[in-house]
Order: sequence, then structure tokens, then C-alpha cells
Amino acid sequence: MESLQARIDSFSKSRRVKNPSKPSSSVTVKWPHPPTFRASPEALAEAGFYFNPSFEDRDNVTCFACEKQLGNWEKDDDPFNIHWEKRGLTCCWASVRCGLREDMDRTGRFTFPDKTRLPTSKVMEKARLDTFSTGDGWIHDQVKNHGASSKKLARAGFTYTPQYPGDDLATCLYCNVSLSGWDAEDDPMYDFLDLLQCPQSNLSSP
Ligand SMILES: [Zn+2]
Ligand SMILES: [Zn+2]
Repeated sequence: MESLQARIDSFSKSRRVKNPSKPSSSVTVKWPHPPTFRASPEALAEAGFYFNPSFEDRDNVTCFACEKQLGNWEKDDDPFNIHWEKRGLTCCWASVRCGLREDMDRTGRFTFPDKTRLPTSKVMEKARLDTFSTGDGWIHDQVKNHGASSKKLARAGFTYTPQYPGDDLATCLYCNVSLSGWDAEDDPMYDFLDLLQCPQSNLSSP
């Protein structure tokens, strides 16, 4: 469920779930909320969640990275805020993706009021690195001394953001540059410094 498309697709499939007090019977459950909810399938999937209902919790979702479960969604519940508030310090996806709003001012400019959340901080580098070990992990770590190892990518500002299973797409969430098709000779730091629009590159030079 580390791929975005798999999480989005999970909301369009109906599930059979067992009635725990009557194991011989099961019911078919569909995602019950209208698209006008802030917690739409697209928003939930981007915030890290896939549809994982049970008999009691028909709108339960689970985070692909930290396995946090959430249900009883109401119209204005924001999956990014809730994931950040509940797991911002422990879940890599909640930290790198859902916490982005904490880093911005009202106009959407990155100002990083919390200095531990600077893109160059060890905390954020570690959170980015942890995204590369979700699911089956980062494919290029299977090759020794690969230029685009998870460590180098995380240091260069990248987060693992596969759109489909097996995808090697990595994204700088600060400037939304996504790159895939990494070669053993690639140097992500070089690629990254080329993208001088990114606030991280401004902040890394004192
Ligand atoms: Zn999580
Ligand atoms: Zn960037």
C-alpha cells in the first residue's frame, strides 16, 4: 500500500467483512462517504491511508507506513491534520507529507517556524529515509554502492513516493520535483542542487 494508486483504488473496491458475533455471516462494505467530505479517497490516499473496513468500523482506514487506524469520519475532518496530530512524531509519512502545512505561513510559503522541521534537519532526513523502507523497500538499495541509494536520496531531500507498485519515483515535497528511472551512476545531490527553486537548497547554504 506504499503506492498512491493502490491506496486510491482501495476506496473503489467493496469488501466482505465478517460479523464477529456471528462468524458464518458477512456483509459487503463500500466506502460510505460522499466526495464532498474533506476525507475524500484522494485526500485520504495522499495522506497515507487505504480503505480497511471492519464489521464495526465501516469507514476505517489504515496508514500504509505506521498502521494507524482511523474511522468515524465527519464531513470536515481533515486526514492530513489528523494524521499529523496523532502520529507526526512517529510516522515517517505523517511527518514528511502531512506535516508540510506546519512549515508554511498562511499564504503557503515555506517559513519553517519549527526549526527541527527544516528540510536539512536530522529529524526530517531520518523521516524521509524511513519512507524508503516502507512496503518492499527501495529497489536500488539491492545494488551495492548505487548512486541513488535511499540514504543519498533522503539526504538530498527526496521522499519515496511510488505511484504504482515497483515504481522508483522519489519526490522533493518542498518543490514538488519528482524523478524516477534512477541509474547506478546518478548523483541525487547533483540533481537536487540543479533545482534551485527549492527552499531546501536556499536553506542549506548559511
Ligand atoms: Zn502513519
Ligand atoms: Zn526541492
